[in-house]
This record gives sequence, C-alpha cells and structure tokens, in this order.
Amino acid sequence: MDLEKKKVGKIGVTTENIFPVIKKFLYSDHEIFLRELVSNAVDATQKIRTLSTFGDYKGDLGTLDVRVSIDKDAKTLTVSDRGIGMTAEDIDKYINQIAFSGAEEFLEKYKDTANSIIGHFGLGFYSAFMVAKKVVINTLSYQEGATPVKWECDGSPEFTLTEGDRKERGTDIILYIDDDNLQFLEQPTVDALLKKYCRFLPVPVISGKEQEWKDGKMVDTDRDKIINSTEPQWMKKPSELTKDDYLNFYHELYPGQDDPMFWIHLNVDYPFTLTGILFFPKIHSNLELTKNRIQLYCNQVFVTDSVEGVVPEFMMLLQGVIDSPDIPLNVSRSYLQSDTAVKKISTYITKKVADRLEEIFKNDRADYEAKWDDIKLFIEYGMLSNEKFCDAAMKFVLLKDTQGKYYTLDEYKALVEPEQTDKDGNIIYLYATNPVDQYTYINNANEHGYNVLLMDGQLDAPFIGLLEQKLQKTQLVRVDSDIIENLIRKDNAKTVDLTPLQRNILTTVFRSQLPTVDKANFLVTFEALKPTAMPIVITQNEYMRRMKEMAQLQPGMSFYGDLPDSYNIVVNTEHPLIVKIRNEAVEAIGKDIEPLANMVDEANKKVSDIRSAAKDGKLSAEEDQHVSDLERKVGELRTQEETTISEYAAKQPVVKQLLDLALLGNGLLKGEQLSDFIKRSVKLL
Ligand code: ADP
Repeated sequence: MDLEKKKVGKIGVTTENIFPVIKKFLYSDHEIFLRELVSNAVDATQKIRTLSTFGDYKGDLGTLDVRVSIDKDAKTLTVSDRGIGMTAEDIDKYINQIAFSGAEEFLEKYKDTANSIIGHFGLGFYSAFMVAKKVVINTLSYQEGATPVKWECDGSPEFTLTEGDRKERGTDIILYIDDDNLQFLEQPTVDALLKKYCRFLPVPVISGKEQEWKDGKMVDTDRDKIINSTEPQWMKKPSELTKDDYLNFYHELYPGQDDPMFWIHLNVDYPFTLTGILFFPKIHSNLELTKNRIQLYCNQVFVTDSVEGVVPEFMMLLQGVIDSPDIPLNVSRSYLQSDTAVKKISTYITKKVADRLEEIFKNDRADYEAKWDDIKLFIEYGMLSNEKFCDAAMKFVLLKDTQGKYYTLDEYKALVEPEQTDKDGNIIYLYATNPVDQYTYINNANEHGYNVLLMDGQLDAPFIGLLEQKLQKTQLVRVDSDIIENLIRKDNAKTVDLTPLQRNILTTVFRSQLPTVDKANFLVTFEALKPTAMPIVITQNEYMRRMKEMAQLQPGMSFYGDLPDSYNIVVNTEHPLIVKIRNEAVEAIGKDIEPLANMVDEANKKVSDIRSAAKDGKLSAEEDQHVSDLERKVGELRTQEETTISEYAAKQPVVKQLLDLALLGNGLLKGEQLSDFIKRSVKLL
C-alpha cells in the first residue's frame, strides 16, 4: 500500500455506522475492552515467540511483555506490546474490513450479551470505542524492512492511515478516553480489571509500578508491577505439583477460605482441549456457594464465572478453573446449552469427577470417611440431578448410622438383610432424622437388633426416595413412624382383643386427656403388643410426613406443608397398666356407659332403617323430621358419654402420666404441660 500520501478511507462495515451500535448495545459490559486489547497484545506476543522458535523470525526478541499505561494529563490509556506488529496491509485486512454483515439483526438478537458479539465477529479491537472518543494504533511489523504505520479513528467510520514513527517492533493501542469513562484512567480501577480478566495470561502484563510505604504514604518504586502469573497451576502436569501447590493456588483464587477437601486436575486433549482444576470446598453457608464459583478461561483469559450449561448443575457447588479454547465462550447462554461440544465437555467432567471420587474412596477410605459429612451434600445433589453421576456414585456413596459408622450401599445391605427383612421379603432400612428427639425409638430398634441410619442432611428427604427407586425390594422408614413390631413385620400381628364397650371407654379415656398441641393432630389406636413393650407409643405416619417434607422443598405444594402433623397414639392393650386402666374404668363407669351406648346403637339403627326403606333415597317430610330428631339424640347421648368418661379419666393421674411420658419421648411436651407433668410426677412418687 502506498503511504506516501495520507490515506483516508471508510471502515468496511455494511451497516451505516457501527460505532453507535457498539456504544449502545455493549455499554453494560464496557469494561471488557481492556480484556480484548490485552488479549490481542498477548496473542501478538505469542505469535512472535512462535515465529522465532520456528526460525521464521531471526531478530532479537527483547523482553516480551505487555504494558498498560495511563497518562492522566493526556487522558489516554495505552496498551503496548512487542509482538508481531502490523503492516499497512495487515491493518487494512484485520482492522478496516470488518466482516460484519447483518450486524443490526444480529445485535438485536443478542443485545444482552455483549460478549457474544465481540469475539464472535472479531470485533475485540473495536470494543475500544466503548470507552474512547479516539483510538490510535502505532505499529511496526516484525517483517524485514517494514514501514511503521499509524492508524487513527475518532469514532466516525472514517479513519486515517499514515506512516508512523515507531522504531521498535510491536504495537501501541492508544485510547483517548471519553468524558463518560474517566474511571479507566484510575490506576486502581485498571488494576482491578486486569486482575479480573488477565491474572493468568501467559505473557507478563505490567500496569504501573509497585508501591511502597515511605514518609507516611504509599509511593511508586521503580519496579514494574506485574499483574499476572504466567504459568497458572492448571497448565502444569499434575505430577509436577505438590499438595501445597494446589492449596496455594486455591487460596490465590479464593482468599480467606478454608482448605478445600479434594481437587481434581482435568487434562484432556481429545476430542476437545480442556484443562482445569476443580476443588471441593468446605461449605459453611449457602452464601459462599453463590460467591465463589468456578471460573471459565479461554486460553488463560478469564471469560466468566457464570458456568451454567458448561458444567453439570450439581457441580456449581465446586470451585476452581476450567480452561478450554473449545467452549464457544463468547456466545449466548442458550446457544451454549444446546452446543454438542459443551454437552460432551459436561459429560466428560461428570465422569472425571466420579472417577476421582471413587479413586479417593478406594485409596484412602479413612480420609474419605472423615470428609464424608462435608462432601455428602455434593454427592447427593449430584445423584439426584444427574443420572450418569448417580450410577457411578452407587459405588462410593456412603450411609452413616446413628453410631457414626459408615457403609457403602453393598455393605449396608449385607449388614441389615438378615435381621431387617420383613415377611414379604422387603429389606427395611430404618432411619432417624434427629438422634436426640428420636432417641428412645433408636434405642428400642437397636435393642431389637436393628441398625438405624442417620439421615439428617439437607437433601436426605429426596435422597431417601432416590434410594428406594434404585435399590431393589428396599424400603426406608423413619424409626418413629410406627411401633417397632410394625416397622419390620416378621409375622401377622396379634389381633386386639377388646369388647366394643372396652374400646369405646378406653378410646375416650385417652383422647380426653391429651393436651392440645399447636399444629398437631392425634389419633388413638390400639395394638396388641408384648406385655413388656411400652404402654403407649407415639408414631408419625411416614407417608404424610414425607409429603410435608417434600412440600417444604417445593413451593407449589404448600397445601401439604400447611397441614398439621398427625400422630398416632398407639395404646398397647396387652400392657399390664393398660389392662388395669381398662378394667378399672369398665368397673367404675361401664354401667353408666353401656345403656348410653345401647341407645346410640338403637337410634343409629333406626336412622339407617328409615334411610334404606325410603324409595329412591328420598325421605318424606315426616321421615326427614324423624331422622333429624334421632341424630340430635345421638349427639346428645354422645356428649353425655364423653362427659362421663372424661370426668372419670380426669381423676386418673396415671392416664395423663402415661400420655405425657409418651409425648415427652417425642419432644411434644412443652411449657405449662411439661411443668404440670413434673409436678404430677413428684406427687405420684
Ligand atoms: P480478533 O482478535 O477476535 O481476531 P480483533 O478485532 O480483536 O479480533 O483483532 C483483529 C485482528 O487485528 C487480530 O486478529 C490481529 O490480526 C490484529 N491485531 C489486533 N491487535 C493486534 C496487536 N496488538 N498486534 C498485532 N495484531 C493485532
């Protein structure tokens, strides 16, 4: 190209003017201009290095670094490199002719993702116009006898290209920062951006000077301040790294965190290129999960830390770095998720994480068990949300029992199968969610020779469902969901032997003496247990409880969540105390209750006779009246019955005492009722 005369031209964009478009749509992400310019400078530097290695460049390489400098007076920010530089032809080809057909349409579609447009269309350089009113390129190509070139553009589609005065190989990109973006002339702002995007770039990036404390303030020294570490750990071979190297790298990425529990060094070159290190953090709160996330890099340039779609969802709990030139990092998220390369990467990472966990488990089980409580959340989440991971994890997921022992699924099955198989051949896994509240149940189960698992994790409720799906003929029941004989039924239960009168009186005796507990319903039932078993046991229906627990995890099911807890008051009709209460009650009030009960039966029988005699189920006015009279009478008789039994029961402290004891075992006895219980206990003693 002839640069004798000043060349004036129009930038080859098909759209009328690209700059307003860039400013308008890319505004929200305008800080990335620095990433783009520094990346270009690093690329140019690596190219000259490569050319030199292959003997295509014979000159002296000099110190290869990239400098970002600020001139506050001139209001300029300059990115300089000693890379390959550009000839006038290069500028024409790479800078002036932007392949940008259909720009408007494209921008409209992707206006939320500035990243997608830049990069995708080779527009990195032009992002400079997001913050600059004028951009100057001063460059000298590495080619022998090259002429220095100066390109200037003030943000209109017109540029000038003249002979420059640069003496050294390389490029300066000078940005005349516009008045809306003066923050990019502040050293701390620029440093922070470089730290964010450039901290692991492969060429030293220098920004300003190191400072030191002198005469009561920070002053510049004459040492250059290097922003990045050019050989991040993930680019090295795992065999070159020690445990401390990994830990130091972790703390460099996430300052102020506890040591991670494990890490996984990823290293693939086929069918795609991917390197990285993933860490399993010690999770203390949900807050940290959203704060310290996996960072995605593309050839050591930071791209984003929103990795949804690239790594499987459950790995959002991990931390660390993934670097791949093959992830189309600069396109929109919806595109990412449907991209087949990304899907492969996600599958690969899943497999790699599972393999590594299995390896750690096999190599050092004691260490794995020691960390289990901390990694359990991650593994259960993985199993619940990712089928492939779930299948792999069946080998290394652990179950912990209430004594703190850990088992694999196979080990646990072998442990409980002999004792905990019911008459239908189902293996019943018993579990507790709160070893303190459910202490008596756990104890009782242990005395029966049963093992009880501890399922007190955040995800254990859905995880229990998953286990039941995956394990054959296996059911999980909470240790307090029924009386022990019913939890694992070995034979058909003994039938309850009560006359209608006895049942009637006993039911009301106990029901009337139950305290009212907020958000709880009680149902009195009878079981013929061993005489040595407890007189009263309180159980909570497994199905209802699970529904309520699931409801708490899913906002749409609040109907179940709002229901009161329902408990069964299981009265052991064989227990000597219960037998005694029954006999004494029948003796004392049986003669009053029996005629009332008979009258109720009679009246009820009449009602049903009238109803079944009526044609087509329709009652005449007279019959209708009769039925209502009878029903009112039944109501009155019932109340009378109820009053008689309640009054009697109220005078039997042992009834209340037995109920309170059972409630106490369930943590349901509180406040005034608890203090009444204590007073009564003292009295009874
Ligand atoms: P991309 O980097 O995506 O190709 P850019 O608009 O950032 O798009 O750059 C276009 C081209 O300009 C680059 O591919 C490179 O050939 C050239 N270029 C940009 N900056 C430099 C530089 N500092 N040194 C040498 N060449 C450069």
